[in-house]
Amino acid sequence: MSSFLRPPLLHHFFMVRLLGTAASRTLTAERLGTASPGGHDLRDPALAAVLTFEDPQAFKVKSIWELLRALGVFRLCSFPVLVNNCGKLMSFARTVLGKRGFSMVLRPSVYAQFVAGETENEIAESMEKMSSLGLHPMLAVPIEEDLGESTGERRYDDNLATMLECVRMSHSNAWSRDPMMQLKITALVNPDLCVKLTSLLNEEQYDLDVLVRAMNGEHIIFPGLNEKENTHFLCSLHRLNQIGEASVNKVRVLVDAEYTYMNPALSLITMAMMKKFNKDGAWIWNTYQCYLKESRALLLDAIRLSVDHSFCFGVKLVRGAYMDKERKLALQKDKTDPIHQSWEHTNDSYNGCLDIMLNLISQEPARYMIIVATHNEESVRHAVTRMGELGIDKDGGSVCFGQLLGMCDHVSLTLAQQGFSVYKSVPYGSVDDTLPYLVRRAQENRTVLQGIRKERDLLRQELHRRIKERITGAR
Ligand SMILES: Cc1cc2nc3c(=O)[nH]c(=O)nc-3n(C[C@H](O)[C@H](O)[C@H](O)COP(=O)(O)OP(=O)(O)OC[C@H]3O[C@@H](n4cnc5c(N)ncnc54)[C@H](O)[C@@H]3O)c2cc1C
Repeated sequence: MSSFLRPPLLHHFFMVRLLGTAASRTLTAERLGTASPGGHDLRDPALAAVLTFEDPQAFKVKSIWELLRALGVFRLCSFPVLVNNCGKLMSFARTVLGKRGFSMVLRPSVYAQFVAGETENEIAESMEKMSSLGLHPMLAVPIEEDLGESTGERRYDDNLATMLECVRMSHSNAWSRDPMMQLKITALVNPDLCVKLTSLLNEEQYDLDVLVRAMNGEHIIFPGLNEKENTHFLCSLHRLNQIGEASVNKVRVLVDAEYTYMNPALSLITMAMMKKFNKDGAWIWNTYQCYLKESRALLLDAIRLSVDHSFCFGVKLVRGAYMDKERKLALQKDKTDPIHQSWEHTNDSYNGCLDIMLNLISQEPARYMIIVATHNEESVRHAVTRMGELGIDKDGGSVCFGQLLGMCDHVSLTLAQQGFSVYKSVPYGSVDDTLPYLVRRAQENRTVLQGIRKERDLLRQELHRRIKERITGAR
């Protein structure tokens, strides 16, 4: 019987397989790229020059207002006191200004920088512009729910309707080309249940095939869950099944990674979706957060599982967005910090996981796919270099790059101009619905270290050039 083994066991099992066997699909260290790679110089000098990402011309497509807005927003994000308290400040401003007044301030500024819009027309306008710049959309419904915030089955069904609408919008418009979308499982499954499942995974083994049967409508009794939890889990799996059925062969669904206290459950569910929907291609992808000390082990375990269960495997590779809270929780609970001790360690982890995936892709590009989801120029250069060394097509579809809307456009636009496949993660919704997302973006700008500083410099240079051009009339 195939089973979703406990993380430590599975990892051990996988390492044994790695060291010991020679079955036809056995993953050797060489195949995975864990053997030391060759040089890391960019071999094409023209490409190497472009990938310094120092050309402010990347911003020539932006209006003066957009340049000013980006500069203003990034400047605000550079004040720790504002960023650390932005949630409270925004709630205060909303109370003082009222819903309409607050929206009038936020909409043309922070909201317009990071969010595509609210109505389908507004979203289409943003997407058409993006598409004309050679960028692909990755729509994201910014539903953020944490422990104790659940408001019942009805709310999850409403979220399902929103997600299905997102699937439809992603593939049925003129601007949709090879569309992707992001999915937060906690929008469809109670986060408290995800935490419970995560702790059960330390004791119980969940069989991926059983989860697939539950998705198909079979009434399964899951060990360790009470009746109410079991019913909710079955309803949730039906919801996720509907997303899979609506998106397969049309939209790639990238499941977000969240907190370590629920990620194992999210991965379990995602793997079951992969098992059902990734038979002929990677339509469901999982996210791996490289700031976690265990990220490499988790990625290796998942690759093994995909081989054992014969499904295609798509990976969104990120550094991770919840560092402060993860560390705070570990401290409070007197647990080992799950996050690498420094940014440099996280970088090594990121580039190591990237190498593993790129090596697999170079051998089986139809089976493995990755989105290098980062604003980090060094990681982008690393990916481009390895792609060149391994002979991976830049527009072959197996490797693409991803940045968030409103962040590091100099990286996205330069890559797109060079013919790489680039996605922008595009949240949409009302000001109120996107507030928690905006707070997180502000905080992220604080930790996205070099990229934003450089983007600000380039924005300034482009602004000066435009002003000079207007004054002197010279081009
Ligand atoms: C398309 C897309 C999708 C995303 N989806 C997800 C998702 O599903 N889940 C998720 O968690 N995040 C997600 N993110 C956010 C991502 O995890 C990062 O927070 C963000 O991209 C910043 O990392 P970077 O590699 O771009 O930038 P960098 O500036 O290179 O790195 C900043 C990151 O490094 C890490 N870091 C910073 N300081 C330290 C330190 N002292 N010690 C250890 N590590 C440190 C943190 O992860 C921080 O966010 C996504 C990002 C993109 C672009």
